[in-house]
Amino acid sequence: MEKKNDKPKKEQRRRFIKGAFGIGGIMLGSPMLSFMSAPAAGAGRKQKEKLGIALVGLGNYSTNQLAPALQETKNCYLAGIVTGTPSKIDDWTKKYDIPQKNVYNYENFDEIANNDDIDIVYVVLPNAIHPEFVIRAAKAKKNVICEKPMATNVEDAQKMLDACNENGVRLAIGYRLHFEPFNKRVMEFGQQQVFGKVKSITANNSSDMTSNKPNIWRLDKELAGGGPLMDLGIYAVQGAVYTMGKPPVAVTAAYGEVTKPLYFHDVEQSIHWELEFEDGVKAQSNSSYAEEQNELSAEAENGWWKLSPAYAYEGKKGETSEGKMDYPNIYEQVKQMDSQAASFRKNEKSIVPGEMGVRDMKILMAIYESADAGGKRVEIQY
Ligand code: NAD
Repeated sequence: MEKKNDKPKKEQRRRFIKGAFGIGGIMLGSPMLSFMSAPAAGAGRKQKEKLGIALVGLGNYSTNQLAPALQETKNCYLAGIVTGTPSKIDDWTKKYDIPQKNVYNYENFDEIANNDDIDIVYVVLPNAIHPEFVIRAAKAKKNVICEKPMATNVEDAQKMLDACNENGVRLAIGYRLHFEPFNKRVMEFGQQQVFGKVKSITANNSSDMTSNKPNIWRLDKELAGGGPLMDLGIYAVQGAVYTMGKPPVAVTAAYGEVTKPLYFHDVEQSIHWELEFEDGVKAQSNSSYAEEQNELSAEAENGWWKLSPAYAYEGKKGETSEGKMDYPNIYEQVKQMDSQAASFRKNEKSIVPGEMGVRDMKILMAIYESADAGGKRVEIQY
């Protein structure tokens, strides 16, 4: 019998704007998006009305965003969970009607290979643990969605992509902003030159983490890979890239002052960077864990636009030199997962594929390289 969630519980969505991050980069027509084609994923699997997703890691994002979103998706549903915290199992299985046979821990996770209910593994763990679970999921022949940032270094990101290609499964990144109208419109403004050529971009994404305890994994370099750049700045990078529709060629960066050393002795408190595109356009960005910023804007030859907030889960606002941008705020994780499930089913790449995650790791690492070298201009190698 096919297992599907025919009667999703219409839950009250718990949506958090603070600490909401995300973006992606569509880069229509760019050579960087003619990402290499991967072998077949899930070919021959029985066609189901909805593909089953297993969430790996039941922290804030899974609990407050992804699981509720999966009650509204059309192409996929919450079929299983993978957790290292046994005390969460009862609540999750009851709340979401998850059978015990679809519950895994980090040790027995590989047995998911034998579970036909699970078509997609969605990795929602601290950044440094993404590679292990993406590679294990690939070996279990499951399509994978991996949260951002894909990894904590380029080598791991490449290994994850290679593992998915070698095992004939698809890899997509949890870049949700490619699926929502304000950011999609910005991609059109920039890439289709709706206001003429882009002259400059400003993209800032910051969120004050200092109301948390100082021991959270986001402040631990080994687990997070870095500070606000890895977590929030990645969206500012993506914003600039998808405004331009092509990747930057070089970067110059500098760390900000550390005013809260109790929190920021391992990762940066803030970082500022300038991306340089081949036609000389520059994108200025800042990302900090000790202030609030949420903006993606650009000046073009014949006008300007600005999203603020640009990256929050809800409440996005936009304005252009011709007036207010008026779009509905949508549940973007629903759109994201439905789109990714549809791509997996058709054995096509997601519009936010693993290759994009690798590209972004290269940009992030070049930003750190420049800041570490005191602001030296670093050319980005793709
Ligand atoms: P979280 O701290 O709330 O949850 C992390 C989960 O990982 C917890 O369930 C924890 O128990 C588990 N875990 C397993 N091993 C761990 C370890 N060694 N140390 C700490 N926790 C461990 O984090 P989160 O906010 O849910 O973020 C998880 C991932 O999702 C991150 O990669 C983050 O960047 C990403 N995320 C993406 C978005 C988005 O908008 N796309 C938003 C939030 C988070």
